[in-house]
Amino acid sequence: KPKQIAIYGKGGIGKSTTTSNITAALSVAGYKVMQVGCDPKNDSTVTLRGGNYIPTILDTLREKKSAKASEVVFSGFNGVHCVEAGGPAPGVGCAGRGIITAIELLKQQRVFEELDLDYVIYDVLGDVVCGGFAVPIREGIAEHVFTVSSSDFMAIYAANNLFTGIKKYSNNGGALLGGVIANSVNAPYAKHIIDDFVARTNTQVMEYVPRSITVTQAELQGKTTIEAFPDSEQAQVYKKLADRIANHTESRVPEPLSAEALRKWAADWSDQILAVEAGEVRSSGAS
Ligand code: ATP
Ligand code: MG
Repeated sequence: KPKQIAIYGKGGIGKSTTTSNITAALSVAGYKVMQVGCDPKNDSTVTLRGGNYIPTILDTLREKKSAKASEVVFSGFNGVHCVEAGGPAPGVGCAGRGIITAIELLKQQRVFEELDLDYVIYDVLGDVVCGGFAVPIREGIAEHVFTVSSSDFMAIYAANNLFTGIKKYSNNGGALLGGVIANSVNAPYAKHIIDDFVARTNTQVMEYVPRSITVTQAELQGKTTIEAFPDSEQAQVYKKLADRIANHTESRVPEPLSAEALRKWAADWSDQILAVEAGEVRSSGAS
């Protein structure tokens, strides 16, 4: 039975880039991996496929009643398996419908067993507001949930909402939180802000991933950093992250901040941020 992992985060925060590099790194390490894009944009797996899009499960099922595994699972870099769940036409229906349909189809066709997978990684847009996006958490399909966040308030706000969703479903067999993948963290203050947020919400940082031009270059080639620049420093960061996620076992119930507490926390950081950047104070966060 494969280990199933879901990666959430605010729109545009770097979920697909990070997930694809984790998938590629795990594959290079010798594991059999499937990445399932759960985003109506269908672009989760493009950098695993030389910049090429694959048909989505929802689109394929719109044309015919049923589909075989070979019609929805596509091979990518180093033999990784790529799936795009897809979404409804803009403005019509629940955006989470694709996830529900994809999971049903993969189960019904016994795809995980047939492919003898070690890891299935879901790349999920959404902060659990919509029921469909919550499915991997609510149904406990994913064993471990990770979230990508920068130190930007909106990213942290989305992470905090995700924590609220995870906590809510945790009494009923829902997935628990593995940790936060800190993306685009270069400045010292950014690291301090994330460290403080995870300390206050009973979680941890899995890895600090810098914003890097290497990632941009790889993306322009339609590739992951692992594929395009395997010897780069950035590739080593992704390999370390993939290794930590692969070996991660103990997930927890996060303790989200209330809306009020989060507001106050942010305001306190606003007062401290310049001093922290100048190296004048502490690393333990706002009081
Ligand atoms: P969406 O919510 O739209 O699916 P996403 O969270 O999946 O977005 P990505 O598509 O992975 O985000 O990333 C958005 C952009 O940021 C991409 O152009 C990507 O190359 C860039 N990016 C992400 N992480 C990094 C990084 N560490 N260094 C440089 N560029 C990055
Ligand atoms: Mg994406």
